Amino acid sequence: MLKFLKQVSDYTKETVQAAKYIGQGLAVTFDHMQRRPVTVQYPYEKLIPSERFRGRIHFEFDKCISCEVCVRVCPINLPVVDWEFNPETKKKKLNHYSIDFGVCIFCGNCVEYCPTNCLSMTEEYELAAYDRHELNYDSVALGRLPYKVTEDPMVTPLREFAYLPKGVIEPHGLPGGAKRSGSRPEDIVETEK
Ligand code: SF4
Ligand code: SF4
Repeated sequence: MLKFLKQVSDYTKETVQAAKYIGQGLAVTFDHMQRRPVTVQYPYEKLIPSERFRGRIHFEFDKCISCEVCVRVCPINLPVVDWEFNPETKKKKLNHYSIDFGVCIFCGNCVEYCPTNCLSMTEEYELAAYDRHELNYDSVALGRLPYKVTEDPMVTPLREFAYLPKGVIEPHGLPGGAKRSGSRPEDIVETEK
C-alpha cells in the first residue's frame, strides 16, 4: 500500500513539474506573439556587434614572439607561424603569419592564450569571398583594423537587441540618448573596485 502511495506521489510531482516546464515554454511563445517582426535593411543598416563579439582576428606583427602557443591551443592547429632562428640575436625572427578564415571556427583560443596579446578578435563578420583561398589572411591582411559599423557613413547602425533599453524591442527610431539595458563592462569594473 505504501509503495503504491509513493508511486502516486512521485507521479503527481512529475506531472506538476512537466506542467511547469510547458507553462514556461508557452510563456516565451506568447511573449513573442505580441512582438512585431524587426527587419534590418542590410547592408544599408547593420546591427552593432556586441562587445564580446568574436569576429575576424586582428594580428600585431611586431608583438609576436613566434612561440607557437596559438598553434598548439587551436583545435585544428590553424595559425601558420613561419619563423627562422637568428644566430646573432639568438632569438626567433618571424617571417610570416597567417590564419585561414575559411577553416577557423572563431573559438578565440589563440586570442585567449597568446602570451603577448598580439591577437584580438574584432567586430568584423563580413568575410564573404568568391574564392575561398582569399580567406587565407596573411600578416598584412590580419593587421588591418576593421571598419566600425558606427563610423561607416554609408551605414545606419542599429543597436543589438541585447543593448536596447529595457522593454524596447524595436531598434529603429530610438532617441539618441536612450539608455541601454544593463551596464557596460567598464561600468561593471568601476563598481567592483
Ligand atoms: S601565441 Fe601570440 S606570440 Fe605566440 S606565435 Fe602565436 S601570435 Fe605569436
Ligand atoms: S579562433 Fe580558434 S580556430 Fe580560429 S585560429 Fe584561433 S584557435 Fe584556431
